[in-house]
Amino acid sequence: MIALLLTDRCTGCQRCVDVCPRHVFDAAADGPPVIARPADCQTCFQCELYCRADALYVEPTVDQAVPVDEAAVRASGLLGVFRRDSGWDEWAGDPRFADQHWRMEEVFARGRALQAALLDPSPTTNPS
Ligand code: SF4
Ligand code: SF4
Repeated sequence: MIALLLTDRCTGCQRCVDVCPRHVFDAAADGPPVIARPADCQTCFQCELYCRADALYVEPTVDQAVPVDEAAVRASGLLGVFRRDSGWDEWAGDPRFADQHWRMEEVFARGRALQAALLDPSPTTNPS
């Protein structure tokens, strides 16, 4: 669940507001957005992925908010790790961090194929 927005790192770009599928953030006219609805977070990490300032921290627990020590997170080296390991932005093309995130497309493609097969009433084999 979304846990931290580090305002000293935030550039105010509002990308997290735009990409969050659950509308967790409220935009700000000039400055950092506000985590307005943390309980609506689905822990998808999209906001971390799109935050080039590494100003966001999503705690991996999905079903409940877990207390997070901001100082410990800053010291942990975890800020920006998901974006780096996904091979985004300045990490693109670095062979150490191949973009595995887009492999999710394989999962989505399989899901679409399964859905299409379930919706198609025609038999899969041709009786003869
Ligand atoms: S994406 Fe990052 S830098 Fe941009 S507004 Fe959100 S927290 Fe701030
Ligand atoms: S983890 Fe996903 S749902 Fe939660 S705040 Fe970030 S983008 Fe929104």
